[in-house]
Amino acid sequence: MNCPRCDVALDEKKLKGIEIDHCPQCKGLWLDFHELDQLEDHSMDDDDSKGMIEYSRRESDISCPHCQEVMETFNYRAHDLPIDHCKNQCGYWLDEGEEKKVLDIMKQRVQDLKRSSSAQDSWAKFMERGGTRSFLTKVKDLFKG
Ligand SMILES: [Zn+2]
Ligand SMILES: [Zn+2]
Repeated sequence: MNCPRCDVALDEKKLKGIEIDHCPQCKGLWLDFHELDQLEDHSMDDDDSKGMIEYSRRESDISCPHCQEVMETFNYRAHDLPIDHCKNQCGYWLDEGEEKKVLDIMKQRVQDLKRSSSAQDSWAKFMERGGTRSFLTKVKDLFKG
């Protein structure tokens, strides 16, 4: 497989235990479709919490190294990080350094979620104590008589 940008043969490289293809010239990375998911799982393993992955789709300036079809560019999870992917789901192309940004964004999101899930926990405990009666009813009871 050749680099979609410089057309030199891609090397195999290990990133966090995942085998990926790497361009020795431009340092770009090719990730098979499921590999981006695996890479993200190092920061977060709950797929449902990751949110929408693709924003602002547009035609890319490179072609898929697998099937040679023109790739599509999208902004990774609404961040200002354009990533190219193949419409036939062959995989993703990350330019140099983009995989670090993917991980940074994931880490940030994990921290945000930790904050919101501790808020959910205290709400759940509150509801347990409150039983089936609504919060408002309990407040009204407090001020009765
Ligand atoms: Zn290259
Ligand atoms: Zn393809």
